[in-house]
Amino acid sequence: METQTPNRRHRLVLVPCPLQGHISPMLELGTILLSKGFSITIAHTMFNAPNPSNHPDFSFLPIFDNLSDHDTTTTNLMALGKAINTNCEAPFLKCLARMMEENKSLDQVVWIIYDALVYFAEAVAKSMKLPSIILRTAGACAVLAFDTIPWLQAEGHLPCQDSMLQDLVPSLHPLRFKDLPISKMGSLDDIVQLIMDSRRIRSSSAIIWNTIADLLEHSSLEQLHQCYNVPFFSIGPLHKMAPATSTSLLIEDTDCIEWLDKQAPSSVLYISLGSLATVDKKELAEMAWGLANSGQPFLWVVRPGSVRDSESPEVLPEGFKEKIGERGHVVKWAPQKEVLAHGAVGGFWSHCGWNSTLESICEGVPLICMPYFADQNVNARYLCHVWKVGLELEHGLERSEIEKVVKRLMTDKEGEELRQRAGDMKEKVELCMSEGGSSYKSLNDLAEFILSF
Ligand code: UDP
Repeated sequence: METQTPNRRHRLVLVPCPLQGHISPMLELGTILLSKGFSITIAHTMFNAPNPSNHPDFSFLPIFDNLSDHDTTTTNLMALGKAINTNCEAPFLKCLARMMEENKSLDQVVWIIYDALVYFAEAVAKSMKLPSIILRTAGACAVLAFDTIPWLQAEGHLPCQDSMLQDLVPSLHPLRFKDLPISKMGSLDDIVQLIMDSRRIRSSSAIIWNTIADLLEHSSLEQLHQCYNVPFFSIGPLHKMAPATSTSLLIEDTDCIEWLDKQAPSSVLYISLGSLATVDKKELAEMAWGLANSGQPFLWVVRPGSVRDSESPEVLPEGFKEKIGERGHVVKWAPQKEVLAHGAVGGFWSHCGWNSTLESICEGVPLICMPYFADQNVNARYLCHVWKVGLELEHGLERSEIEKVVKRLMTDKEGEELRQRAGDMKEKVELCMSEGGSSYKSLNDLAEFILSF
């Protein structure tokens, strides 16, 4: 039950984008702002709806999304985004108006806080004359790169020839053309159109960033601030600023923690490609044999549906389980934050989604970076080249390359140095979150900013 404090007069309606990597930070933000005394409502699509029983202190406002099975196949994210923004505006307006009518006697100040990808919420806020704030669930480096794409196109730098993929992008160093967040995202024209569409309606009062200004992305944030000209609140890492809550859409296999308990400190490589990336059967086999041949203990998440051309539920190659015995553990979905915080984990082979990136940095775990699409390429470049806590898997999914890079990270001196640096970063994250640190201060500023309306 919500306790009555003065801030409860401020009801924050949070609108997440219905994908795992977006829902988690939004629910975490809700938990943080609830602890600051605000009333929280989660307005969510029926697709990938969060479980209300995990958040008894929130109210929930289901939006009739009218999404078809075709829309919700997560293989075409641009199309999914378009369908959500087209379908949800009118139903959201309707259910929000009803909620406000029902709560009229409470005389509440209502704010909309929405994920930048579900900009239909901004249109609704505007038409109801409600103040709104954007939550960016990607890193500032990636957003800056994304925002620069129309300019790169206008200047004739994009589209670029394959021969230029290793070249540095003007104004975005140290990104190379291959790191731009456009690969596998649809046509360049569609991407530019999407950026223009979301810019057109933008009139929010502020932007919340799930990042750590003083440690990770100061310069990108400064550059973005000049363009956006609204207050920025960098209050990440949200998952650490919030008391732990379950935000997972899939059931977590917690038995893997018992398996980790039996392993030596920093000996295990954890492998997860997040909630969306897929591999084909051949790539999966290369991963499996590369891991097996590395001789290193590993915990591997093979998510249902993540192997593209496989009909059978058994996707691992024949003879693999016999070869690895007790040395490897394979699960469908892991309690990732707990896994990364476990002392037995010494490395993370990741697709470099922004949440995974932050979760690894926060626990001082160095990475093998194998990005797939969108912001993952930018994050991987920063992990390897700027923060220097990651190794790039450069030559694709091939078993001998995998074996080599796993050994470099887990047993070589090079890996030890990365682990040391990651450990130092972990300490700095803690400083940024504690009293006087940049995220701590920014969160207090955010609460004051909302209350000042
Ligand atoms: N995750 C998890 N268990 C898994 C794999 C992933 O809980 O087995 C979580 C992970 O902790 C992260 C999120 O799923 O919070 C994935 O988000 P990210 O931004 O890293 O990648 P995306 O899924 O959006 O590509």
